Amino acid sequence: MSTRTTSSRLPGLYTLTVGERRRQVAEAAGLDDQALAALDGGLSEDDAAGMIENVLGRYALPFAVATNFTVDGIDALVPMVIEEPSVVAAASNAARMVRAAGGFTATVAPPIVTGQIQLTHIIDVDRALAAVTEAAPVLLARARELTPRLCARGGGPIAVSARVLARPPGPDGGVIVVEIDVDCRDAMGANLVNTLCERLAEPAAHAAAGRVGLRILSNLSDRRTVKVTCRAPDDALADARCPGALVRTAVAAASRVAELDPYRAVTHNPGVMNGVDAVLVATGQDWRAVEAGAHAFAARSGAYRPLAVWREAEGGLIGELELPLAVGTVGGALHVHRGARLALRLAGVDAAPRLAALAGAAGLACNLAALRALATDGIQRGHMALHARAVARAAGTPTELIDDVADALAAAGDIRVEAARVILQQLSQDPSLKDAP
Ligand code: NAD
Repeated sequence: MSTRTTSSRLPGLYTLTVGERRRQVAEAAGLDDQALAALDGGLSEDDAAGMIENVLGRYALPFAVATNFTVDGIDALVPMVIEEPSVVAAASNAARMVRAAGGFTATVAPPIVTGQIQLTHIIDVDRALAAVTEAAPVLLARARELTPRLCARGGGPIAVSARVLARPPGPDGGVIVVEIDVDCRDAMGANLVNTLCERLAEPAAHAAAGRVGLRILSNLSDRRTVKVTCRAPDDALADARCPGALVRTAVAAASRVAELDPYRAVTHNPGVMNGVDAVLVATGQDWRAVEAGAHAFAARSGAYRPLAVWREAEGGLIGELELPLAVGTVGGALHVHRGARLALRLAGVDAAPRLAALAGAAGLACNLAALRALATDGIQRGHMALHARAVARAAGTPTELIDDVADALAAAGDIRVEAARVILQQLSQDPSLKDAP
């Protein structure tokens, strides 16, 4: 748990230049200028070439911080890497609404990841199951011997069990899966658990009289969940055109649609994952594993359901999110990526549970912002304003004219690069248009 007492309230951060923002954020996070150098990519060409194969270069994405977050009573600047406009602003806005009622509260489950050893061509699966169950204490003791450093850190293998997947006859004969639950402490755990499964496969196959098949972790880490709750009071939900009570009712109704309809839930959940993934990418996590696990978790009842829901209560909204989050503050890409390590420092994260709490809070905040916009203005208004700026930039508009061209594009409802070029030409021929209403 972070102990830093930085305030995440940085009003007006968005009005500053990138350089000014860096200085303010560095000061708030207690970092020096040299530390922030990693914001220019965070990865040398040599490091990149050592990370994956056939490397030609490095690919950049915007790195930002969301402000206003208080999670478990401690403020945090939440690092986000994402290509989509509006997400960082939306997260910061929603975090400000939630801050008014004390911020987000997270419950992070122990970091247990399950490894699977598939055993095939078993003649008597019931006998194999009984044999593995009997051998479980010995297999567990062996697993713990194989992970001395993890055990010394207070983690390590904690249980061995087995399940029947198929009975003979079948293409693979009788199939069982032996599962090893491992407390991975601050690691995501994939390599740790995979190595363990490989080493334990032979003794497990011997006990079950089966043939060794796959040996790998499951990315459905449904025991390693984070639950985040928050309250957004009516006063904070209100805007100049819409009273808070109306926003509250509209957001709760929007949340219920996602519970009723998988077609809506599958659009609701990316609103959550916008926040979660942006934090995961910024901090060098395996976001593909988290994505796969999150959607399997969302469908665990047999129907695909929302990962976060909102209910009306006591003059405000109560939000609740739950999803599996196998994240690490050691290992993986963090070995090489200076930018990802800096992201953890900016956020004051020193252990995996805090990272899971921040990613979950970012997900819940983004979901609130998306539902609020959808249920009141319609999501396009804010989104299109930012899109118009990107299009104006793509059309070669000089910085001092970006706002004018973007406003004109949005007002015309025709947000294309060609339209931006026409507006730009009109402005250069008749600069008085610049101040036209
Ligand atoms: P890792 O292989 O780097 O292992 C973590 C290391 O950190 C271990 O050696 C451990 O001893 C050490 N460690 C130091 N301090 C620790 C602490 N406080 N708690 C726990 N361990 C500590 O990393 P990993 O987490 O085992 O594997 C993650 C990587 O594996 C990611 O890059 C992921 O993309 C990749 N991967 C994922 C899959 C998948 O299916 N999701 C499959 C294979 C590999």
